[in-house]
Order: sequence, then structure tokens, then C-alpha cells
Amino acid sequence: MSTPIIEAHNLTVVYGRKPALWNVDFKLPEKQVIGIMGPNGSGKSTLLKSIMGVVKPTSGFTRVYDQELEKVRHKVSYVPQRQEIDWDFPASVWDIVAMGRYQKRGLFKKLTSEDKDIVTDSLEKVNMLGYAKRQISQLSGGQQQRVFLARAIAQQGDLFLMDEPFAGVDIATEEMIISLIKDMKDAGKTLVIVHHDLHTAQSYFDHLVLLNTRLVACGPTSEVFTDQILTDTYGGRLTTIAKISQEMENKEFPMRHK
Ligand code: ADP
Ligand code: MG
Repeated sequence: MSTPIIEAHNLTVVYGRKPALWNVDFKLPEKQVIGIMGPNGSGKSTLLKSIMGVVKPTSGFTRVYDQELEKVRHKVSYVPQRQEIDWDFPASVWDIVAMGRYQKRGLFKKLTSEDKDIVTDSLEKVNMLGYAKRQISQLSGGQQQRVFLARAIAQQGDLFLMDEPFAGVDIATEEMIISLIKDMKDAGKTLVIVHHDLHTAQSYFDHLVLLNTRLVACGPTSEVFTDQILTDTYGGRLTTIAKISQEMENKEFPMRHK
């Protein structure tokens, strides 16, 4: 692997007395679409928050572009899990996306006309320009998700960390978001996406991190999306795994060959 874009070294995060991540080590390649998967409570959100400096590791550390996060933060966009955002916060769709520009320029700078064009373009990309004046509290789940994606796009970073961007969105929105993600990858961006649907994992991700408090596996999807590794990751939840491996065997499942 060329220089890893994100690395974790012996990363452990303990909340109170309960570990959410235990001694996690990995390196992620750049310019790929990378999935973070694992059962509920397996530490996926905690992993993104550790990378973003939102939670402090109990031990170990992460690096982004082989640097401390602060030095490269302007290049990194983070889209938190929907439940963690205060949707009653009085802000319009435009305000939220404009925040992506303030993140880039600093809070007290006035937005230039170029910034405003970027906000407009970002809203257009996610098909939300018509809603620019709406309060975010008045949007559907899928629309809210698209607005936060537009904010990340407006920041014009190189690395995107997204926590369950497909949760609570309809199929049309999911298809739209995944096609945007693939376009971003083609434009040289790196995308790290927490995801929970095993059925779409192979078609969405080039690379996977499988978590269950500990790291179960990290590698190219074609190498780590195996019956054994999925069973190790999801433990008792065998019904889904059994069904998926059955589908894989029956070849109904879209397997990717590169
Ligand atoms: P995931 O995103 O995979 O569902 P999380 O990273 O959100 O998992 O949580 C991992 C574990 O840590 C869970 O058991 C969760 O209950 C716990 N946890 C997460 N955030 C906190 C917190 N702020 N305080 C205490 N426990 C937490
Ligand atoms: Mg989570």
C-alpha cells in the first residue's frame, strides 16, 4: 500500500468501564470507497469519532495522511450519524451547507461569491437546491442526509467520513448517494462509510473494515467478505449470514470480479 490515508495503532476507547474499541490496528488505502461494518454497538461510530478527535482514545492513536488530525483537518469532511445531529437547531438548508465553506475559510470571514457558487453547486449535486430556504427540521430523513452530504461536498476536502449515510433514506436517495460517492472516488477522493447492509457491501465497497469491538478483518472486499469472517464479525446473528452465503452460492448475489 502507498502511504495510508488513515491508520490506527493499538486504538482502545473505553467509555466508563466498557470498551467500545479494543486494540484496533489498521491502515487504509487512499482513493477507495471503504466500508466500516459490524453489528450494533461494535464501535463503528466510535472509530470515526476517534479519527475526528471527537472522542479521546484511552490508549493508542490514529493518524490521517501520516499527520496529526489538526494539520490536515481542512481536508477531512465528517458526516455524523443522523441521530447525533440536533435537527431542531434553527438553521436553513443553505446555512448548513454554507458551514462547509466556513469550515474551510474560518468562522469570521465573509463568504465570497465563489463560496456562494460552491454552496449552490453542492446543493444542486444532491438535488436539494429547491429547498435552500427550508428549515432543516422540516425535511425528511433522506433530505436531511443529502443536505449533510452537500455540506461535506462544499468543504472540498479529499477525505470523507460518513456515519450510516443510508440509514432512513429511501431507495432512490440511496442510489443517488452511492452514485455521487462513486463519482467522488473517480475524482480521486477517499470515502470511509459506516454501513450496515451486508447485501450491498460487495457492490459499494472496494475495501472493508470489519469490527466487533476488536478488529476482525481489514482488507480488499474480495479478500475479507467471506463466510468465516462475517460469522466472526456478526457472531450469533447467523440467519443473515447464512442467507447471504446461500445467495452467494446460488450466484444470485452480484459478485465483483476485477
Ligand atoms: P456502533 O456505531 O457500531 O453501533 P458505537 O461506537 O456507537 O457503536 O458504540 C460502541 C459501544 O459504546 C456501545 O456499547 C455503546 O453503547 C457505547 N457507547 C457509545 N458512545 C458512548 C458514550 N458516549 N458513553 C457511554 N457509552 C457509549
Ligand atoms: Mg453507530
